[in-house]
Amino acid sequence: MSADRLGARFLQDPLTRAFSTVLADVRSLDLGGQVADYIPELANVDADAFGIAATSIAGHTYATGDSATTFTIQSISKPFVFALVLAEIGFDRFLEHVGVEPSGEAFNAISFDDAGRPANPLINAGAIVTTSLMPATSADERFARIRDGLSVFAGRTLAIDQRVYDSESRTGNRNRALATLALSTGVLASSVDGAAEPYFQQCSLLIDTADLALMGATLANNGVNPRTGVRAVSAEVARHVLSVMSACGMYDRSGDWMVRVGMPAKSGVGGGIVAVAPGEYGIGVFSPPLDAFGNSSRGVETLRTLAARFGLHLFRHADQPGSLVQAIEFDPETATLSVRVRGALDFVDAERVVHETLAAATAHEFTTLVFDLSGVTEATPFVARVLHDLLEQARSAYTVTAVDPGGIVTGIR
Ligand code: GLN
Repeated sequence: MSADRLGARFLQDPLTRAFSTVLADVRSLDLGGQVADYIPELANVDADAFGIAATSIAGHTYATGDSATTFTIQSISKPFVFALVLAEIGFDRFLEHVGVEPSGEAFNAISFDDAGRPANPLINAGAIVTTSLMPATSADERFARIRDGLSVFAGRTLAIDQRVYDSESRTGNRNRALATLALSTGVLASSVDGAAEPYFQQCSLLIDTADLALMGATLANNGVNPRTGVRAVSAEVARHVLSVMSACGMYDRSGDWMVRVGMPAKSGVGGGIVAVAPGEYGIGVFSPPLDAFGNSSRGVETLRTLAARFGLHLFRHADQPGSLVQAIEFDPETATLSVRVRGALDFVDAERVVHETLAAATAHEFTTLVFDLSGVTEATPFVARVLHDLLEQARSAYTVTAVDPGGIVTGIR
């Protein structure tokens, strides 16, 4: 092979190629849809723009189409502001103001439950109350804190589209009405303008699909931005947000979405959608024409296709988890039973280790038990406790040698 053929110069990344194929396939469909114009400035976007980006929890980004075209984040700001507010005030206090139930209604519905709370933080009524819960002494400070927090998710300082903000602030009377209703039921934590203006501003932050992918990847990565390594929120907050996104992220299409796509997601009327494959990817899609539910037509089709082709549905899993019990050996000469375990141990893995160990222990006459955990990289606290219990019991009857250099199981007390 000649020297100029060395290296990866002639290899195209197959993941980017796969995303490009999805983009071309979806572009060829006639999906219809209307660009949002109830915020007048939004009507000026390029309706043909179409981009996809995905970022893994290792921080690698794969992008295709108009992935660097900026647009306003709109309602996709909602789960991230929800995350920031949870981090500030905690889930219990949050629940005094906003619920976490799917509304089954449109994004701008007049949604208040018997306690006077909006159904969830991902529809306008709930999002405006959520914004009001960001502690601040002024509306400007409230928005500054929101912008700073969202910028940590995106790994760069996000700028506002002043024209879109002015346009929505001039015409956003329905949202002001929702804020006023929330004030009357006692759940709004600020003045009407103290919530509505920062809400309009957060919706007008400019992002591209690569930003969305990284913001989603930060949720997928237990709250740590996988590119910058900076923690945006705790793992628990990230989990709360993904839970609410799965139930409520796609407005009155949320149920159908979970069946067909199966990724927590959030759409915005600017044409963006962020979707999250927990522990794997964040995905951003952008295409402005919206379907009747206010979700990007091409965006929905893209994520449906990606979920099916790439196997990203949350409730899809391999038939058999890979074997974590690497070996079970019985040596009759020394009457020794050896169990070797490897990998990251979850509940389901511990169940198999315990089951196979007990089965082997029943089948053989042994006096020494060797439990080799040197290949175990991590175990949940519950799993560590279960295996610890097994070893402690074994010690009263046999000679037990636990090889556990990391102290993952033997180190607990
Ligand atoms: N700023 C928009 C509004 O409040 C956001 C709506 C959306 O993206 N669904 O109407």
